[in-house]
Amino acid sequence: MIVFIGPIGAGKSAQGHLLKDYLGYEYLSTGDYLREHLDSERRKEMLTGKLLSDEELIEILRNYFAKIEDQSKVIIDGFPRTLNQAKWLLEVHNTGEVKISSVVYLNASKQVVRERLLSRGREDDRPEIIDRRYEAYEHQTLPVIDWFKTNGITVHEINADQTVEKVQQDIRDSLSLR
Ligand code: AMP
Repeated sequence: MIVFIGPIGAGKSAQGHLLKDYLGYEYLSTGDYLREHLDSERRKEMLTGKLLSDEELIEILRNYFAKIEDQSKVIIDGFPRTLNQAKWLLEVHNTGEVKISSVVYLNASKQVVRERLLSRGREDDRPEIIDRRYEAYEHQTLPVIDWFKTNGITVHEINADQTVEKVQQDIRDSLSLR
């Protein structure tokens, strides 16, 4: 399993899809999954930029892992986003239920992220929501990266301010995929 972590607008989805096609892997975006499956009331909650509960996300991941054929050939985008989610993932990694082969950390600056998101124009890409989602990332997701590192998981940090092509190239180089 390859895990993509990074702020909103870092290009996790674009990069994850390119890598998935290159490797022939499965792909799970928790954001896409939630947008598809939540009822309209819960969708509204999600669109305010707040994170949903760890329990709910862990349940989604648990069901997903149970369903797919080869868990080693999966790219996960959007999970873990909190320390609790990361702890659960490492726990199932340590028990051998899943295997985290690499964590790709797409590091993008706040300014580049803002510019990209405002041109993307998704429902939750309004300036005040972007700031809230970036803040959630800084407070809740950044600690996940250090936590993985101190627990022996290799984190590949990539400069995600660059062009799509260069970022993809750096990811493949860093993962020794060519
Ligand atoms: P994304 O498409 O990855 O930007 O996710 C969009 C929204 O889905 C986020 O702002 C959260 O409300 C929710 N979401 C996605 N993944 C998670 C997660 N791992 N934990 C909590 N909430 C999540």
